[in-house]
Amino acid sequence: MRLLLVEDDKGLRDGLTQALHGAGYAVDTADNGIDAEALGHVEPYDAVILDLGLPRRSGLDVLRAWRSRANKVPVIILTARGAWHEKVDGFQAGCDDYLAKPFHVEELLARLAALLRRSSGQAGAAVTVGELALDEERQTVTTAGGTTHSLTGTEFRLLRYFMLNAGKLLSKSRLTEHVYEYDDDRDSNVIEVYVNRLRQKLGREWIETRRGQGYIFRNPVP
Ligand code: CA
Repeated sequence: MRLLLVEDDKGLRDGLTQALHGAGYAVDTADNGIDAEALGHVEPYDAVILDLGLPRRSGLDVLRAWRSRANKVPVIILTARGAWHEKVDGFQAGCDDYLAKPFHVEELLARLAALLRRSSGQAGAAVTVGELALDEERQTVTTAGGTTHSLTGTEFRLLRYFMLNAGKLLSKSRLTEHVYEYDDDRDSNVIEVYVNRLRQKLGREWIETRRGQGYIFRNPVP
């Protein structure tokens, strides 16, 4: 999953980026409202973490601009301002969750994972497809037979995206956009390599190839 982190405090931004990388997210960052708004319009983020007090344009105005253009990306607002009426303003502008500073990074990660699961239609507390269960904290996957496989960083990012979008036809370029960051060298052929590695761990039947179109991740035992 690929995130946009909008925060003008460099120390906080760097710390959060590191924690989010550790949790297996690709992260783009913006330090002002104008850049944030433009990136949110153009890039297909899976979620946004948005500070409210920003230079050049406030976080609330950025959020209103996205929503007015029918951008439904899940947004968690971060702000030092924890007063109840400011939370109400945030929800009225279209945020999905709210976290007042200071906060524990573990709480942000837990809220983010829950928001992403829910926005992908997952009901439970973990990401599952059929008998396959992803452990987002340990970055492992357990198969039907009960075998647990560890995953490399890219394998985990790709598998989480597949599992949260099970049953959908996903092109290589779409997978690349959601697994890598803006600045990464995005070679969509690399996706093929990682798809094959996942097949070796899970079994070939989980990922169907549609020639010239992409891949469909689905439960082989419907
Ligand atoms: Ca700020």
